[in-house]
Amino acid sequence: MAKYIFVTGGVVSSLGKGIAAASIGCLLESRGFTVTLQKMDPYLNVDPGTMSPFQHGEVFVTDDGAETDLDLGHYERFTHAKLSQRNNLTSGRVYEQIIFRERRGDYLGKTVQVIPHVTDEIKTWARRLNEEADVVIVEIGGTVGDIESLPFMEAIRQLRQELGRRNSMHVHVTLVPYIAAAGELKTKPTQHSVKELRAIGIQPDMLICRAERPLPDEVKAKIALFCDVAKEAVITAKDVESVYEVPLVFAEQAVDEAVLELLELRDRARPRNLGRWMDMVRRLKNPQGEVHIGLVGKYVEYEDSYKSLNEALLHGGLAHERRTRITWIDAERLSWPGCVEQLQPYDAILVPGGFGKRGVGGMIHAIRYAREYKVPYFGICLGMQTMVIEFARNVCGLKEADSTEFNPATPHRVIYKLRELKGVDELGGTMRLGAYPCRLTEGSLAHRAYGMTEISERHRHRYEFNREYEEILARHGMRIAGQTPDGTYVEICEIPDHPWFLGCQFHPEFKSKPLEPHPLFKAFIGAALEHRRRRIEAAEGVREETSA
Ligand code: GLN
Repeated sequence: MAKYIFVTGGVVSSLGKGIAAASIGCLLESRGFTVTLQKMDPYLNVDPGTMSPFQHGEVFVTDDGAETDLDLGHYERFTHAKLSQRNNLTSGRVYEQIIFRERRGDYLGKTVQVIPHVTDEIKTWARRLNEEADVVIVEIGGTVGDIESLPFMEAIRQLRQELGRRNSMHVHVTLVPYIAAAGELKTKPTQHSVKELRAIGIQPDMLICRAERPLPDEVKAKIALFCDVAKEAVITAKDVESVYEVPLVFAEQAVDEAVLELLELRDRARPRNLGRWMDMVRRLKNPQGEVHIGLVGKYVEYEDSYKSLNEALLHGGLAHERRTRITWIDAERLSWPGCVEQLQPYDAILVPGGFGKRGVGGMIHAIRYAREYKVPYFGICLGMQTMVIEFARNVCGLKEADSTEFNPATPHRVIYKLRELKGVDELGGTMRLGAYPCRLTEGSLAHRAYGMTEISERHRHRYEFNREYEEILARHGMRIAGQTPDGTYVEICEIPDHPWFLGCQFHPEFKSKPLEPHPLFKAFIGAALEHRRRRIEAAEGVREETSA
């Protein structure tokens, strides 16, 4: 039987509930327990797959092809949990299932209601993870007081009752604002949030208080008294430079001890071992310089739209003891040849995944710049597709080469819907989603980066490389460096006559972790640093010449 930790949030959103849940998971692993995490989102979309990354942040993809909330990315980066469809639930999914059953007549004439039918379904989802780990951490999206989240709150209230006090606990993440004019940390919003929680029958066992500065003892004591929580279970989540510091901040305040005590797990725990994690954070905070990556895309305003990508680039830098500085460049503002000067300051260029035609022209200019000026280039998903289009147009002379996504009538559809032709679309799955095996070409950049030939990576796309153009592309210097073992899909393309120029159809960023930087990001940042070194040397050479 697993122990359950339920994580709710109060006062405001964006307090880092997901990071808090993931950090508790990380700490429990450091004590020798296995963990898994689940996100329950109260909105009515069946999954985030159809939601705009502007609004909701990135869609995170699991091995089994589930399109999930970005918090699952944090969970995987902070722990060893293997996540799947079972780890992300929305109200939309719950209602979809209940209404399907209702139409099928499963309820035998009964009235179908939020309580018990919706709450039972939510409990079933949480209980399904019972066998997967020693501890299951369930995070409820939204903020206490939201109308939408009520069925979830009721479900976890009931679960606590059913599982037993010693087998479950409630963690509430709140805000303790610092009011500069009064020079004081204010506990009232936390008190109100807990009051709201208690009104629906939930008494928190631990409060994680997000604050600008550490809560002094007397503030902790006050919160403990008014919220009926042990003082050791009032935790400050002070603002930190990097999210990876949070497990260490929690460890300093013995969050793991409090959890083990509450869940009666102390006997089974081993001493805390965070050595590798601490070393990683130390290296992250003491880089030996920086590397500057230009990201050319269309979602430039909102960094959550590419959460995993940002993290993976950071991990890649970490592998070289460098801080990765990322500058977003709005693809729509790039033109040829104007972009040549605009893109000069970057050590490497990356075009990430995306959908739709907007900005594609600018991405193609950026890729041309990287190719002609021998600047390292990494294309991910759409970034590989645009790399193939650019090469077909500007190197192979197929001026109208395109993807059928952007121009269905193109005479040279170098990127097209192979699966539609194979009849896969009729099955309702319009996207190629989740993990697929890929075989790498010996001696390719990819092969060198991974150090093996069989890999597995996660996908989320509709269009594919058209092998009818393989021959002409190869003749002009583009090689296929990875494909599915049956040879159907091309997964990686490269230009061998270039320091580092690689595009992949999959999303490697979903599998990068701070303790295991992804091989492609590590290799890409390595190439960027090499370019940076050469660029600086050349600039110094010029300076010496002019001063001589
Ligand atoms: N729009 C492209 C496709 O559907 C690329 C998708 C992506 O970058 N995730 O194939």
